[in-house]
Amino acid sequence: MTDATDDPIIQVKNLNKWYGDFHVLKNINLEVKRQEKIVICGPSGSGKSTLIRCINRLEEHQKGKIIVDGIELTNNLKNIETIRTEVGMVFQHFNLFPHLTILDNLTLGPIWVRKTPKKQAEETAMFYLEKVKIAEQANKFPGQLSGGQQQRVAIARSLCMKPKVMLFDEPTSALDPEMVKEVLDVMVQLSEEGMTMIVVSHEMGFAKTVAQRVMLMDDGMILEENNPIDFFENPQHERTQFFLSQIL
Ligand code: ADP
Ligand code: MG
Repeated sequence: MTDATDDPIIQVKNLNKWYGDFHVLKNINLEVKRQEKIVICGPSGSGKSTLIRCINRLEEHQKGKIIVDGIELTNNLKNIETIRTEVGMVFQHFNLFPHLTILDNLTLGPIWVRKTPKKQAEETAMFYLEKVKIAEQANKFPGQLSGGQQQRVAIARSLCMKPKVMLFDEPTSALDPEMVKEVLDVMVQLSEEGMTMIVVSHEMGFAKTVAQRVMLMDDGMILEENNPIDFFENPQHERTQFFLSQIL
């Protein structure tokens, strides 16, 4: 594994977003280096999901700039398509297609978006299913799998698109406690392999293990940011102290 270089793969500059009159993101500035891992935490409704959804253009912003791997996110559809393949996203509720087998869930994007031949897409899918230790479930449907298994499938599905960055939006918060570890283990492995990751999560053990930086979002702003040790052991803002006192 090589160290993170100084070349940022994501640049967010003075980002502002409104939902109607509601100012949901307020002057967000964020740079993510290649191979860097960032964990974002913060109270419900503070704008965490909105921020990471802006980074792969699932949401539009109104002011400021987002540049991913040199491509600015605008209404240019071709750019949006490129960004969607470069930036993988894993959601709280898995978002697998229930009527497709696990294998078909994994090959759909590569075949239709990347135009990969079916056989090759299936080989890649099996490679990533093995990586997340679930290859034996390839011909089942999502509903036949546990939540932890479905989330590992969702991660494998993103990896099939060979993303340069992975965004995780509370990937373990819908899981029963006994399934959290199997998903976090896959994410730790991915981080060790050098993936650039932005993870919205309140899993502090995970943040301490993998993150170079942890941030607290509050009321649409990044209120505090630090390395994990100082962030958790010596939070500066009262809001951060209060937030941590509630989750630890
Ligand atoms: P978090 O992920 O930190 O819980 P969100 O980014 O989901 O926060 O939401 C931030 C705020 O924006 C919340 O007040 C939420 O109600 C509001 N919000 C989220 N999505 C929409 C939407 N599509 N339309 C209007 N308001 C929204
Ligand atoms: Mg959210």
